[in-house]
Amino acid sequence: MACRRVRPKRELIRVVRGTTGTLSVDLKGKANGRGAYLCPEAECLERGLAAGSLAKELETPIDEQTMKRLREELAAGVSVRVGGR
Ligand SMILES: [Zn+2]
Repeated sequence: MACRRVRPKRELIRVVRGTTGTLSVDLKGKANGRGAYLCPEAECLERGLAAGSLAKELETPIDEQTMKRLREELAAGVSVRVGGR
């Protein structure tokens, strides 16, 4: 996990590196590939990106374009979850 906060796994957002090497936010938690868990907060993603821990966990460099997409996917995913409550 990018930060050291402890949360129930079901509250976390999974970022997965798929078989093609593409990173995506896996909202269902079922995609194949190497995954890393984040809190459902932009802050946690930012910390993981800035510290390089997310790239390390996923064993792939993360470029600007991918960062932008992950931010958007995370924001969209979080709002879906909140709305479903
Ligand atoms: Zn976190």
